[in-house]
Amino acid sequence: MKPFGYHRPADVASAVAMAAQVPGARFLAGGTNLVDLLKLGVEAPELLVDVSRLPLGLVEPLPDGGLRIGATVPNSELAAHPLVRLHYPALSQALLSGASGQLRNLATTAGNLLQRTRCPYFQDVTKPCNKRVAGSGCPAREGVHRDLAVLGASAACVATHPSDLAVALAALDAEVRLTGPTGSRCCPLTEFYRLPGDTPALETGLRPDELITAVDLPPPWSGTRSAYRKVRERASFAFATVSVAAVVVVREGRVARVALALGAVAAKPWRATAAERAMLGQPATEEVFRAALDAELAAARPLRDNAFKVPLAREAAVRVLADLTPQQEESE
Ligand SMILES: Cc1cc2nc3c(=O)[nH]c(=O)nc-3n(C[C@H](O)[C@H](O)[C@H](O)COP(=O)(O)OP(=O)(O)OC[C@H]3O[C@@H](n4cnc5c(N)ncnc54)[C@H](O)[C@@H]3O)c2cc1C
Ligand code: SF4
Repeated sequence: MKPFGYHRPADVASAVAMAAQVPGARFLAGGTNLVDLLKLGVEAPELLVDVSRLPLGLVEPLPDGGLRIGATVPNSELAAHPLVRLHYPALSQALLSGASGQLRNLATTAGNLLQRTRCPYFQDVTKPCNKRVAGSGCPAREGVHRDLAVLGASAACVATHPSDLAVALAALDAEVRLTGPTGSRCCPLTEFYRLPGDTPALETGLRPDELITAVDLPPPWSGTRSAYRKVRERASFAFATVSVAAVVVVREGRVARVALALGAVAAKPWRATAAERAMLGQPATEEVFRAALDAELAAARPLRDNAFKVPLAREAAVRVLADLTPQQEESE
């Protein structure tokens, strides 16, 4: 591993200022992804700025009824938070489906959102990879790509984003709060992530030296139900093959509001807006849900070995929506 400097600033302003002094500096949170990438030689920064002890570790109710989640809140703490379990169950379920108990104790909100793809070529520095070395090629297109993207990919890159948390946050209309050398700003999570296009190394709209300080959730919709479901190779300690986060309100048997996001199908959590439009105002039936998912997935462009993900994503989403809606009709 290449030697690197290490600083542990006491506040956000110092953290951002320290990172700005050294080109390519990296923020270190739980280290559960970044340290692995340092060991593999995928990352080789001159400086690590340890943000794990910044005062960003709280989950706080917002005056409008929403919730602010600090950037360094451990995944395990967030999953267990009473307000999250009560108002945003999809979020809690997504977190608990990820990694292991030990990892979730270390992994943070921001670190989870910014973890890198698990594409095997990205993690192997002896192989070409456009995301790691621009213009070197994408061996995944013809090689091992069973777990890779079916939506929004490009000739340059077909990687998927591995976070479960990000998928739930996309369905919950979360906003990312950022602070950089020139000030603070907010960005809807669905606009934060980028599709690969010709520049797969640019994964988000994060500007150089910008720190994620928190993620804000809007108040839950009245009468809402939400759930996260993850399909994977084995029951624990595995990344998603596909995943679904759904937030839905049904009134008089019809879909009054719905937000749907698919995971492990694209380089970003995939907000299924075509499916949402197709369901809105329609009877809450499996036929309607399936037709809506077909409308969304018409854009899918699978590779040789991952076409199975398209019907898998559709049926997983139909199942989640169907499981959520009858219970809701009964309770109203
Ligand atoms: C065996 C294993 C299994 C796993 N399974 C799953 C799974 O099933 N689902 C899943 O979602 N994840 C899974 N993970 C990934 C795990 O959730 C991530 O490694 C973890 O969430 C990263 O958080 P961290 O705080 O450790 O981030 P770090 O490793 O410290 O950092 C990750 C990235 O985020 C950046 N960063 C961190 N904090 C900030 C900040 N505040 N502002 C700006 N940049 C920041 C770092 O610079 C780095 O680029 C698994 C990991 C392992 C090792
Ligand atoms: S899919 Fe993306 S990350 Fe994987 S080898 Fe191709 S360019 Fe690299």
